Amino acid sequence: MARYTGAVCKQCRREGKKLFLKGDRCYTNKCGFERRSYAPGQHGQGRKKNSEYGIQLRAKQTARRYYGIPEKQFHKYFVIAEKKVGVTGDNLLKICESRLDNVVYSASWGKSRSQARQLVTHGHFTVNGKACDIPSRLLKEGDVVAIKETSTQKNEFKAMLEENASRPIPQWLTVNGTTAKVERLPEREEITVPVEEHLIVEFYSK
Ligand code: SF4
Repeated sequence: MARYTGAVCKQCRREGKKLFLKGDRCYTNKCGFERRSYAPGQHGQGRKKNSEYGIQLRAKQTARRYYGIPEKQFHKYFVIAEKKVGVTGDNLLKICESRLDNVVYSASWGKSRSQARQLVTHGHFTVNGKACDIPSRLLKEGDVVAIKETSTQKNEFKAMLEENASRPIPQWLTVNGTTAKVERLPEREEITVPVEEHLIVEFYSK
């Protein structure tokens, strides 16, 4: 299976930074990284070698883990980003941001990207009026995502919407109750992934 199924907090510890993969728990003292801010494994507390390759690899892995994208798909996004007009690193992050699961999370319809992905695969959303259960679907300017009416009536879904209602919505999205419109793709300064994207470009350009 391509998707990582191990302990989620180990990913933050491996990258040496908080990636906020678990929703609310990330903001409490139960955060795995707050408790053990060293890499997992037997040699996690040993001396780190920061080779050029290692730094680039960590940047790529950080972005991949932040969005929850398998390696093969992430590389495919890089190839698409390279072909687009503009800065490759910016293009790559914009592609990641435009995924349906990320848009659902950004619209505060899930406490984490992984929960948003699960909601998509369970068929709770439409894109431009048609049912869509593909988390990796790339959205473009003007696309409208909506929560299915049957889903909004479920108590669990209602509670989840209420829980996340206070989260700030990025300016590139307009959320109106149960619909979210992609007004435009985000600018780099609106993207919060803790990574220097030029390192990812260097990693794949070797
Ligand atoms: Fe990362 Fe969140 Fe786990 Fe903390 S609680 S280590 S931020 S996933």
